[in-house]
Amino acid sequence: MAFVITSPCKDEKAAECVDVCPVDCIEEGEDMFYIDPNICIDCGACEAVCPVEAIYMEDEVPEEEKDYIEINRKFFDK
Ligand code: SF4
Ligand code: SF4
Repeated sequence: MAFVITSPCKDEKAAECVDVCPVDCIEEGEDMFYIDPNICIDCGACEAVCPVEAIYMEDEVPEEEKDYIEINRKFFDK
């Protein structure tokens, strides 16, 4: 389980989440930020500061945003 960043990040991208993550597992991609599910410790700090509510616990990602679970995972498969 991990927290997942979804599409609202694409318009915002101000990186408040990066500043609060205690394990530094949020990385910047081309048009949004991504959470490394292998490192995230599920603390929820990022979710609390995101101004556009782009971050969800993996099992609470809305149906229309579920593709981002895989998109976040793939970003770190490199
Ligand atoms: S705080 Fe939210 S909108 Fe800002 S970079 Fe992080 S996930 Fe994206
Ligand atoms: S839940 Fe905590 S550990 Fe996971 S990405 Fe957010 S701030 Fe980092």
